[in-house]
Amino acid sequence: MPDGAPVDQPLKVLMTAAEVVPFAKTGGLADVMGSLPKALRQLGLDVRVAMPKYGRIDDARFNLETIGTFDVPFETGVEPVTLKHTMSGPVPVYFIDNARYFNREGIYGYADDGERFIFFCRAALEAVRYLNWQPDIIHCHDWHTAIIPNWLKTIYRADEFFAPVASVYTIHNLAYQGVFGYRILEIAGIAEYGFLYPQIAELANVVDLMGRGIIFADMITTVSETYAREILTPEYGEKLDPLLRDRKERLVGILNGIDYDVYDPRTDPYIAVHYDVHTLDRRIENKIALQREVRLPEDPAVPVLAAISRLTDQKGFDLVAQIIEAVLRQGVQFVLLGTGDQHYHHLFSRIASAYPTQAAVFLTFNTPLAQRIYAGSDIFLMPSRFEPCGLGQMIAMHYGSVPVVRKTGGLADTVQDFDPRTGRGTGFVFIRYDHMDLFAAIIRALETYKYRDVWRSIQVQGMQQDFSWNRSARKYVEVYHKALQYHRGK
Ligand code: ADP
Repeated sequence: MPDGAPVDQPLKVLMTAAEVVPFAKTGGLADVMGSLPKALRQLGLDVRVAMPKYGRIDDARFNLETIGTFDVPFETGVEPVTLKHTMSGPVPVYFIDNARYFNREGIYGYADDGERFIFFCRAALEAVRYLNWQPDIIHCHDWHTAIIPNWLKTIYRADEFFAPVASVYTIHNLAYQGVFGYRILEIAGIAEYGFLYPQIAELANVVDLMGRGIIFADMITTVSETYAREILTPEYGEKLDPLLRDRKERLVGILNGIDYDVYDPRTDPYIAVHYDVHTLDRRIENKIALQREVRLPEDPAVPVLAAISRLTDQKGFDLVAQIIEAVLRQGVQFVLLGTGDQHYHHLFSRIASAYPTQAAVFLTFNTPLAQRIYAGSDIFLMPSRFEPCGLGQMIAMHYGSVPVVRKTGGLADTVQDFDPRTGRGTGFVFIRYDHMDLFAAIIRALETYKYRDVWRSIQVQGMQQDFSWNRSARKYVEVYHKALQYHRGK
């Protein structure tokens, strides 16, 4: 279907994922699951979401209602599920509640994670059968739900209810593949089909759930066009590039959007002062409020550099670590909000104690603080080694914080390097994964920051970008139609 064409046949789509805003979030996957279904509903599709009911999800806070209980066939027996439901704006969300696997505080990080998410998938399928709501498409996200396309082509293939259902599989991050041993095949009830990747030595004797999503889905998507090309190469393919190359005609890159209802500096409930591109002068009050909150000297002139991220090697924090002291010697302030690898926790805690008037470090997950940092910082650092899409840089631009990014994946697709000759650009981009190249990009940003009008024009260009879901949601509709065609053997 061409861009902009109306959707005449409303499709029924079940989305399955491990995290969904506002119920559970560790990263961008949750943002997408909170916003893409809404955008598709606005196009007239009947999209519904299924997720696990983690212990931390408060029934009363989210008005969860029990629909009923049923038994899910699992391994050799059955496992009971209580199916719950709420509305997230216009989107019906179903929760799989089961004491054995999900009545725990955390989302991930348990020894039985593989089994937990296999169970969730089985229960999600049985839930729609229980509801007698037959989707046209099941849209699965990341390794946690990647077994579903595999099942639709095996144990559910001859099942009357599921046989017509096509599957779409979205890779949000190829680095997390859900790799388990043979036992998981038994748990999933597909041991008779055995291992699958004799051609890839590292995968010959393991169950790689991400790989199964790629092999069996009718269509595969990932979250930016550049990343869709990159993952076909050994450098970015995380050992699955041969599988992706085999199915490359089924693979489409669709850039994520951000939810403008949530991320809007005109209405954001967490920030001190509301503003937009016409009232950008007011933004400075958010900067002062941020400096006060994070206990750094209140100074409108000093550039505030920020990062909000998982603290992992993927995000380029090894580069940041190598240059942060040299950057601080430029007299800037640095605000970091993130959680992740322990060695980064130690390293940045040390920086915060060594530079108490320049560096503020918060090793927590805190959404309100994140939004105040987007609204109050001048420069947003995202020097990722690889980046499937990245939402941080888009949110930052939308809030007038100018990103410094490496040219990879979705960062390459969303940030245009500032060119002082033309005055065009939305950020500062470097290419090689090298700490000196990052340093040079930061210095370019700091030099440009001295010219207030130029800086303002970069902020304005960033704020005027369209990062809404409008265009991308339509591309998913096209993918759904293609998936159905493939599924029907056309
Ligand atoms: P990824 O999904 O790889 O973690 P993205 O940039 O796609 O990276 O999405 C990260 C999302 O999580 C953004 O919405 C970002 O603001 C948010 N985020 C990351 N770390 C934190 C944190 N410590 N506190 C609050 N929000 C965070």
